[in-house]
Amino acid sequence: MHPLANKIIVFFYLTVVSYTVTARELTYWLDTAKDNPTSATISIDTSQLGEFVLEPSREVSSSANPSTLNIGCLTSEKSKTTIQFGKPIDCQSLQWQVQFKKLQNNQYNASSQQNIYSPEGWWLLFEWGNLPRIAGVKFASVCVAGNENICAKIPDKSGGPLLFAWGKNTATITTDRLNLKLFADSDILSHELPNISRQLEQQYTYLSQVFSHKQQQLNWSLIWTAIDQKYKTVSGAAGAGAYIANYLVDDGKLTNKTLPMLLRVSAHETIHGLSSYTFPAWINESLAEYYAFKAVQLSKVKTRVPVNEWQKNKHTFPHANAGLYEAQNMVVEQQDMSYYPLFYLKGAAFWQTLEQALQKSGKNLDTYIALLNNKADTNTISLSQPFIDAMIKAIGKETWQTIANQYL
Ligand SMILES: [Zn+2]
Repeated sequence: MHPLANKIIVFFYLTVVSYTVTARELTYWLDTAKDNPTSATISIDTSQLGEFVLEPSREVSSSANPSTLNIGCLTSEKSKTTIQFGKPIDCQSLQWQVQFKKLQNNQYNASSQQNIYSPEGWWLLFEWGNLPRIAGVKFASVCVAGNENICAKIPDKSGGPLLFAWGKNTATITTDRLNLKLFADSDILSHELPNISRQLEQQYTYLSQVFSHKQQQLNWSLIWTAIDQKYKTVSGAAGAGAYIANYLVDDGKLTNKTLPMLLRVSAHETIHGLSSYTFPAWINESLAEYYAFKAVQLSKVKTRVPVNEWQKNKHTFPHANAGLYEAQNMVVEQQDMSYYPLFYLKGAAFWQTLEQALQKSGKNLDTYIALLNNKADTNTISLSQPFIDAMIKAIGKETWQTIANQYL
């Protein structure tokens, strides 16, 4: 849910001269305390590295509170010192603590991206704020202490963050296209699992055709956590190898909205997870939101319609009159996150309006998505010129202009 976070460039560290570090793979060992499952120690054996430079962990957002990990360095003289980022150091090992929020009372908002511990017997660690990197080391993994088979690669800095779940998984979903390890905070959805896995496979088959060049079996962890409807939010987050989705409950019970909303959040996060395209944040979120609607509709599950939602809310929605380009500008340049929700609501309505116009001429938005890809300049706010040209050709200049004026 935080595509922006991937785009933050920490200029400060560009001044650090690159250090050559032996190419062997480093392991971040994760050890949870037996008597306190909400705390874990991470340690790295750095004795083979010689002098190296530690870089702070990636963070969710540049302006949010950066994490304050207390990282200990064990020197060859067996003394412990505290690390300063960006300065050459020589340590035999590094060690620090990470904390996990215990899931309880159906109140965890998945987009908060806080580490969690479920009393069902599993943990979820987010890369954000927790995993400093050693400059020059390209290959590193996080592994569970005492079980080196439970590991995850720390993704490249240009990609999505690591989401690493381990412990007692609730179920596995295996089909031709999916190999999913499910971690859920209760078994309340168990009897729906065959139905859900069928829908997830359908979604994935469709969405990978639109958003990815490669067709491959999806090997992911899914994390499902309940949220009570009194909190009025159902969200998710995607990262390397996993996504987390909230499911709605009312006083601990499923409602008739639970399944449609879970499928919708799942589709949204699936798009983030599998997309091979580079988009500005507004396109990233609005397309994920619109295609989540399309994917859910495809499986004949009743779900809310983006244009109707926008019509219903546009008189009361914050910054409703701002165009999507302006909203993007406010979010990126001014860091004014109050414009962000427009991406979802107004943005999804934009794509649906455009699709309706395309359909009148017998066309489908799916075949145009690749034209939106803008690898040359990721800072561009506007739709790519090839895409605009294709739209004008398909629906006519006048219709295009009307829609652009209304939304962009
Ligand atoms: Zn998103």
